[in-house]
Amino acid sequence: MREFLLGFGSIMRSGWRASPRRMVVVFALMLLEYVSWPLAPLVLKEVTDAVVARDVEGATVAAAFLPFLALLNQIGGHLAHVVWVELCDLNLLQVNRELGELSHGPQGLEHHERPDYADRLELMRNEGNPMYQSVRVSVRSLGLAVQLTITIVMLTLLEPLLLLLLLFALPPLATARWAHRRFEFAIWGDVERSREATHLLDLAVRADAAKEIRIFGLEDELRGRLRASREQLRRRRFRAEYEGVAVMSAGQLVFALGYVGGLLLVVRGAVAGEHTPGDVVLAVTLAAQMNTLVYDIVFASGFLQRSAQAMARLAWLRGLIARLYPPATRAAAVPARLREGIRFERVGFTYPGTETEILRELDLEVPAGATIAFVGENGAGKSTLVKLLCRFYDPTSGRIVVDGEDLARFPAADWRERIAAGFQDFVRFELVARESVGVGDLAAVEDGAVVAAAVERAAADDVVMQLPDGLETQLGKSHADGAELSGGQWQKLALARAMMRTAPLLLILDEPTSALDAHAEHVLFERYAASARAVARATGGIAVFVSHRFSTVRMADLIVVIDGGAIVEQGSHAELIARGGMYAELFSLQAAAYG
Ligand code: ADP
Repeated sequence: MREFLLGFGSIMRSGWRASPRRMVVVFALMLLEYVSWPLAPLVLKEVTDAVVARDVEGATVAAAFLPFLALLNQIGGHLAHVVWVELCDLNLLQVNRELGELSHGPQGLEHHERPDYADRLELMRNEGNPMYQSVRVSVRSLGLAVQLTITIVMLTLLEPLLLLLLLFALPPLATARWAHRRFEFAIWGDVERSREATHLLDLAVRADAAKEIRIFGLEDELRGRLRASREQLRRRRFRAEYEGVAVMSAGQLVFALGYVGGLLLVVRGAVAGEHTPGDVVLAVTLAAQMNTLVYDIVFASGFLQRSAQAMARLAWLRGLIARLYPPATRAAAVPARLREGIRFERVGFTYPGTETEILRELDLEVPAGATIAFVGENGAGKSTLVKLLCRFYDPTSGRIVVDGEDLARFPAADWRERIAAGFQDFVRFELVARESVGVGDLAAVEDGAVVAAAVERAAADDVVMQLPDGLETQLGKSHADGAELSGGQWQKLALARAMMRTAPLLLILDEPTSALDAHAEHVLFERYAASARAVARATGGIAVFVSHRFSTVRMADLIVVIDGGAIVEQGSHAELIARGGMYAELFSLQAAAYG
């Protein structure tokens, strides 16, 4: 119940935020519509009693009201429909915007790793209609409550025993609740399969999956799996829907029986002279309305519970994000330049929702202005170190200290503003080339000269030169006339993006050159080292790179060899070779392979 009320409140607030003006209009129209329903039987009663009493004037005035009420109701209905559609659209836009903000707004990545977050997101994705209709069904429910109250008051005035009908209204409401629970149970049971179906569909339409799907001849297999998982989802959901409808109908039958009893009471009263003929007309017309009313209430309450649940999920997501990322207390200011450097103090890290400790009691000192390379086998923990440096996560134990200040105390956004980074899993921004590079420093995105300089620093001039309109060329297949680039060319642009910020405290290149050939990588790293030195002079910035190519790694001042989440060796290239340990072994293996 608490969740329902929370969801209901959240729907109303959401509607109000989407458009206060439209909310007022729909409330007014709703009142007009739902009050006019029970008024019509009252007018009919007056007409009947006036006719029986041969009161011509009274009958005429009362009868004139009827078409007027009907007209009011219809005009209200038409107008309301248009405003509704607009309000529902605005509300859904707003909910989607909030979902986007919840997903991308937080400073860290932890929420993306959590299965409970993924489950709720998946359910919300599948519950588009209840979300869309949420404001409408909520206001409508209030309207139905108004109509029910007026009807009950009228019935009580007519015959107090009819109040017992309220008891008969309980079974339909209880069965509607049961049906809702049944449906919820079905979709929660399905959420994993539903995510699987979404993934399969994604695979079926994604361009980058097409090559492997063709080569391995997976088309039929993929289609078959998608069909099977969709079919199972459909069957389970509709079974829940049909069972719900059957049980809800039984609840309504109980109410109908109660109502027949009530009607008999009034009719017998009229025969005995205790009620007027108008009272009988009133009871019969209210009865007809009451049947529809209870049906509407049952249906609306079922739907409202689904909408409220969907909105409660949104509130849950909001709560999770607030819990995971509390605003930094005693935030510290990011220094303008590094004087001492960065120190890892007994840093341990375990990914959220997992058990394995990926980094263990790691100590490391990187002086300001240094160039440092992380080396190690796949899965050693190099990228995890980089993620901690970017504050995508905070260490589970220990701390990272920047010029004597705990990194966790810097507001993540301020810290990231001072990071220039290129990653192996780079993004292909299908924009104009200038923007695709320029978004690396949004403030300079319009400045062609600044972008061109970054392109040069990343040794990506050859890519831009081949483009028909240079930096102004539209990129990517999402545009009919967009230029398509090779993997290596996209990667060079990603590197240029990483070079946009000119005064970073941290320059990160995390295997960003995997799609480049050895020569291109070498040229790039020479330029990179030059700009890293310039940055080091200007800001004391530290350059961090992760690479598998030792010709690149050896350029670093400090090489750190990671194995199983711990540092096993560190020193310069010459020192590590002289030591004859793991680095020397890996180096000679690669030298032999490329000899
Ligand atoms: P490297 O960069 O040295 O190849 P990573 O730092 O990417 O290694 O990974 C180190 C370990 O952390 C691996 O065992 C990997 O499976 C695990 N890991 C990486 N990312 C995640 C994640 N998001 N959730 C759970 N485990 C992860």
